[in-house]
Amino acid sequence: MIDNLKQIFSFLDGCSNAVDIRAVLEEVFPLKAIYIYDFTTESLRDFSKSWMYIKSKELDDAFEKLQSKKYYKGKTNSYYALCNNNKIIGMLEFSEHLYDKLLEFLEMASFCISLKIQNMILSERMQKNIDFHDSMKNIAKIIETQYEINYIVPIIGEMIDKFVSDHLVYIFINNELVWPSACRDEKIFELIKCLNNKSEYILTPDKKIGLFPLISENKLLGCIVTKATDSVLSEKEIEYLEQLSSQTATTINRANVYAEILKHATLDALTGFYNRRQLEERVKQEVSSAKRQKRNLCVIMSDIDFFKSVNDTYGHAVGDLVLKSVSKVIKSQLRDYDIAGRYGGEEFLLLLPYTNLDEAKIVAERLRKSVESKKTDISKILPDYKDISVTISLGVAQYNSKEYEKVFIQNADKALYEAKESGRNKVVAYK
Ligand code: GH3
Ligand code: MG
Ligand code: MG
Repeated sequence: MIDNLKQIFSFLDGCSNAVDIRAVLEEVFPLKAIYIYDFTTESLRDFSKSWMYIKSKELDDAFEKLQSKKYYKGKTNSYYALCNNNKIIGMLEFSEHLYDKLLEFLEMASFCISLKIQNMILSERMQKNIDFHDSMKNIAKIIETQYEINYIVPIIGEMIDKFVSDHLVYIFINNELVWPSACRDEKIFELIKCLNNKSEYILTPDKKIGLFPLISENKLLGCIVTKATDSVLSEKEIEYLEQLSSQTATTINRANVYAEILKHATLDALTGFYNRRQLEERVKQEVSSAKRQKRNLCVIMSDIDFFKSVNDTYGHAVGDLVLKSVSKVIKSQLRDYDIAGRYGGEEFLLLLPYTNLDEAKIVAERLRKSVESKKTDISKILPDYKDISVTISLGVAQYNSKEYEKVFIQNADKALYEAKESGRNKVVAYK
């Protein structure tokens, strides 16, 4: 038993968390809990149990009674006020009524207990401030160095999640949830629809849901949503979230601009396939990884039959439309990891990783059939016509690890030539 004040001072001094404080006090008192009053939410929180909110009439009554006296005897429990500058900041709860000697001791000890608790809360807040500034610095760094939105979003999500405790955090971009993977609260989906490019942050009347719009250059890009699981957002947290969402919006905006630039630099505008330059890059990459990993790789070269006559008969605009429609059909038949590029005017090059020659021939035949049966509606350009269809010829080749990538492509080209020579609308594999 600690029996003098000096000792309790030095014991408390060594405490670094609520559990320690509780343990020290339990040595001396029949302590049940330590409550601290949260002035923002006007409710008591259990300091010794990770800041849980406590809703209890008995406790509220006891706290009320302590406004006018330091000690209050309840039915079985008893309570002692924790003060700071004559203001009651919380209370200790005991499982029985205290005898005079203990009360005498508390009269002196309560001052140092509340001081210790206050210090701890203060340093917790300071730590949060430090964490916040660290996060802001990190986000600033991301802005400077990262342009991939899929990379940026989870980092920001985890960062926010870390310092708004007792809250679920969601990030939406263009009304779609992008982090984390699921949100089961329909109300949130409803709420985000109300945002516009002039919105400020919104708190629902029960203060449980917070919406922080992501606005950059007067455009609403999305929003960060917080949903309380236990506590509600403090003023400081709201301030943090406002600053963070503005930083996040800038980051996302930059990423979008970058993606747009990248798209124009790598993709063909008409078909959405890789352009020639990017395609050559991808051929190099795929060939070298097929070589390294000793895996199959095939190429299909396709060319529209008699395409010149489509242009000559219906005009260039119809030619473009047909080209677009053929590329769409081809895309719909490919797997996610297949690579499609516009090799020349109406020639497409398709790279099929993990595919041997027999499989590639099947793919090519499937492409041929689906293009043949596709009807492209041209009435929007030429009202007197309905729809037209075209066919393609295809050359297929498999990569052989001894050859150069140029030869690999040339082989497919040779097979394509043979398909053209032998009647068109057919698949020929290079032997
Ligand atoms: P085939 O391949 O069956 O031998 O006959 P073809 O008439 O298709 O001959 P070729 O492949 O040599 O002709 C390609 C034609 O495609 C020439 C050009 O007018 C047309 N072309 C190329 N790029 C485009 C384009 O972007 N838009 C349109 N509308 N036509 C294009
Ligand atoms: Mg052609
Ligand atoms: Mg051609």
